[in-house]
Amino acid sequence: MATKKENIPVAVEVKDKIAALSVLSRKELISRAKKMAKEFRVVSDKKFNLKNYSTVGNPDFSKEDKPVAQQALQQGVQLLAEMQDKLYAQNKWALLVIFQAMDAAGKDGAIKHVMSGINPQGCEVTSFKSPTSEEINHDYLWRCMKRLPERGRIGIFNRSYYEEVLVVRVHEGILKSQKLPEKLVTENIWDDRLNDIRNFESYLANNGIMVVKIFLHVSKKEQKKRFLERIDKADKNWKFSNADVTERKYWKQYQTAYEELIKHTATETSPWYVVPADYKPYARVVVASAIINALDTMKLAYPIVNPEQLAELQRLKLDLLAEK
Ligand code: ATP
Ligand code: MG
Repeated sequence: MATKKENIPVAVEVKDKIAALSVLSRKELISRAKKMAKEFRVVSDKKFNLKNYSTVGNPDFSKEDKPVAQQALQQGVQLLAEMQDKLYAQNKWALLVIFQAMDAAGKDGAIKHVMSGINPQGCEVTSFKSPTSEEINHDYLWRCMKRLPERGRIGIFNRSYYEEVLVVRVHEGILKSQKLPEKLVTENIWDDRLNDIRNFESYLANNGIMVVKIFLHVSKKEQKKRFLERIDKADKNWKFSNADVTERKYWKQYQTAYEELIKHTATETSPWYVVPADYKPYARVVVASAIINALDTMKLAYPIVNPEQLAELQRLKLDLLAEK
């Protein structure tokens, strides 16, 4: 067991790290976020292999350093709030953030924490479940198209059209229930879908809708731990679904499907971020960094008021002040 004496330097180190973070300027925070985002970004990699990506991440944000990760996240959240305000005011760009992951990888928690400072008026979260009978009567992008963010807004997809090359690929029975003309169901269907998705995202980019894709990369061991917690803790029971344990049996097939889709759809304009997700506080800092990086490339600024408009504002001010 660690003695009290041994614990002191750790605490001091954490305090020092927090102090070092808290003096960073806005510019330094952005460049820190960009550096972190770059570390986990995949833009094009024909040999992409998940085995080369850690599920743990940087030891700088180890469990002992939880307060450091929390401080870094808090700063990221503040920055995001400020950037979103400008995005909304400027009303030109839109941002779509897609979350994909194995069960219990922490999508919900990441969305909740990273977006905690965001103005709800400028943001919409959509969770995509198994399609309804109305949805299945349409092409698979239909339900997602309806939820794309307007200009000035952030759209969050909790799962997305990528399920069409994940769960549908792993369980071909689902494909059979999709009512597609038989002629179109060939062995090329997955490549066709991946190409269509890539082209769709390129179309969005050409329209000023930036797409950022987050894959929360959790290990099988950590997933098991989280499932057991969901069973053992009363306040987490509601999160547990028997189907999650069934899907776990297809772990390898899912990992292969993820590799394929990242290989085909990671591009300069719509990158994937392979985020180490075994330690949640760290994963959230990386997610915030990826979003900050995307917003920063938009060169956001409040619309400039021209001299005539300024003069008009002054005139209106005088009118208001003159009111009895
Ligand atoms: P958690 O991580 O907390 O379990 P979740 O995103 O898995 O959250 P659930 O309600 O448990 O939410 O599951 C939604 C289910 O819907 C997933 O199993 C997913 O694979 C499935 N789904 C989503 N899109 C499709 C689709 N197009 N076709 C078939 N199934 C889909
Ligand atoms: Mg689930």
